[in-house]
Amino acid sequence: MRAWRVKSPGPVEDSPIELVVEPQPTPGTGELLLAVEACGVCRTDLHVTEGDLPVHRPGVVPGHEIVGRVVEIATGTTTDFQVGELVGVPWLRQTCGTCVYCRRGSENLCLSSLYTGWDHDGGYADFVVAPADYALALPTGYTPTELAPLLCAGIIGYRALKRAELPSGGRLGLYGFGGSAHLVAQVALHRGATLHVMTRDEKARDLALELGASSAQDTYDSPPEALDAAIVFAPVGDIVPTALEALDRGGTLSLAGIHMSDTPPLDYQRHLFHEKQIHSVEANTRSDAREFLRFADQHRLHIETTEYPLTEAHTALRDLKAGHFAGAAVLRPKPD
Ligand SMILES: [Zn+2]
Ligand SMILES: [Zn+2]
Repeated sequence: MRAWRVKSPGPVEDSPIELVVEPQPTPGTGELLLAVEACGVCRTDLHVTEGDLPVHRPGVVPGHEIVGRVVEIATGTTTDFQVGELVGVPWLRQTCGTCVYCRRGSENLCLSSLYTGWDHDGGYADFVVAPADYALALPTGYTPTELAPLLCAGIIGYRALKRAELPSGGRLGLYGFGGSAHLVAQVALHRGATLHVMTRDEKARDLALELGASSAQDTYDSPPEALDAAIVFAPVGDIVPTALEALDRGGTLSLAGIHMSDTPPLDYQRHLFHEKQIHSVEANTRSDAREFLRFADQHRLHIETTEYPLTEAHTALRDLKAGHFAGAAVLRPKPD
């Protein structure tokens, strides 16, 4: 099979990943072997390939928004999934189930959690193995390409929205409007939020307005009204004080990224007083994932994607870095 492996992490312009041909993996007990139909290209893949995140598995295959067809269920595996079924494999690959965080329902904070496309090989390949207990049933009515970005951009964006504690009918600001934000926006709008989008990307501003945002402006511009909640998707710490300043009294800022550049010093009176809160977001629990995928099953989401053949993973990562497309990039091993 074909697989992209991270040779040595560095700027995507210097081609840190390499396409290799190797035997397809064998599933161990508890695992599924999947033929990859689509794999989303997430900003975290950029952090893994460029070395913003420490190396967990040398030569790892990136990719954790995997839509794959079950081709084999390892002997001795108990699962409801069937051979031939289309399933989703997300970022959260495995948790211990016994640490204090797992026991209290915060498995996203597990002390020994493992991640797809970081600790284990991911979906920039023709085949992948994944633990059945962490694979996800997928909503109906979408193509594999549309389903892929739901598996991280959608799920973790959904958790970021929960962490933003947006009151019902509240005013929400989104900083950055890519794969994750455009899905979160639709959940918030379905729930009656008023939405303001701040992004430097003109195409993304157009998409935001098309989807129902009340306003769209440049990243550091003030929204037209104070915000009850805001989410920063861009991995740029400089945005944090701007977003805090845009919050109304008692507002909450949620930081959706796994990695962010340093935040500048905050001014207590301007940025934090009046009970403003900052919440970071770490991955997601399986129940976040199921809740969001249920929402996607019950509400038709508009999912903006740009397809690349598997062989163009480099181009997809470079385009993501440069902001060359609106929505989400998706790799297809066998384009239609
Ligand atoms: Zn744990
Ligand atoms: Zn991701």
